[in-house]
Amino acid sequence: MINLNFVPPVFGYVVAGIFGAIIGSFLNVVVHRVPIEESIVFPNSRCPSCGAAIAFYDNIPVVSYIVLGAKCRHCKEHISFRYPAVELLTAALFVLVAWHDGLSAALPFDLIFASALLALVFIDAEHMILPNTITYPGIAFALVARVVIPYLVGTPHFDDLPSLSGGALAGMPIWVTSLVGALIGALLGGGSLWLMGWTWEKLRGIEAMGLGDVKMMFMVGAYLGWRLTILTIFVGVFTGSIIGIFLMVRSGRRNMQMLLPFGVFLGLGAIAALLFGAPIVVWYAGQFR
Ligand SMILES: [Zn+2]
Repeated sequence: MINLNFVPPVFGYVVAGIFGAIIGSFLNVVVHRVPIEESIVFPNSRCPSCGAAIAFYDNIPVVSYIVLGAKCRHCKEHISFRYPAVELLTAALFVLVAWHDGLSAALPFDLIFASALLALVFIDAEHMILPNTITYPGIAFALVARVVIPYLVGTPHFDDLPSLSGGALAGMPIWVTSLVGALIGALLGGGSLWLMGWTWEKLRGIEAMGLGDVKMMFMVGAYLGWRLTILTIFVGVFTGSIIGIFLMVRSGRRNMQMLLPFGVFLGLGAIAALLFGAPIVVWYAGQFR
């Protein structure tokens, strides 16, 4: 391993931020094209108003938006603030994940997981769907990460793994234990969301949630393990309910599920659990000793 200790940490965060802005620019394409089932590679970025191809020098994250004065170079149509906002948010997320992981072999995995969640959050916010083209590869990715990461950086990277490998599964190969942890997390995450939807359907006689939430929580549960998955659902339901009640009061309508993309709150909950969850669940578990 190359020793990078001489590099000041600030430099690492700047690199993470710039890389995040570039991925954010790609997420803009994903958020725009995946719901309408267009390729995310072809064609190159075009102005949604006049269709002119956007040159690489007009496609620099955040910078081009400012240089062009929020207008298309060709037709002068206003460019939505959403584009630089997504780029800045992704940059901030990458800095936070880099701060959480440090210079670790697990960092690229956490960045991919966080990016997939952010894409789902933005797509759900705009289109009220959580596309299979993201959740299915997301589930597969979580399982691969579960097998690979313990060999790269050891068991403590996953919140559930130290206790599982010391408990009933002691003596098993670590990848088996890790996959069992993923399965428990996935069943808990996906299962609770499925149960919530089913109960709501029985109570009200209407379909409350698409299975997108269930699949998204399979991915989150497999990656984060059961404790951080419970935290994710708690944060998602709590913040979703507060925003939902606020929207219901303001709009005077009485059915909140029409207004609420629940995947947004679950996605933000999962990101919060990834970044800040470990000390919270350790503290909470300590209350019962
Ligand atoms: Zn244009």
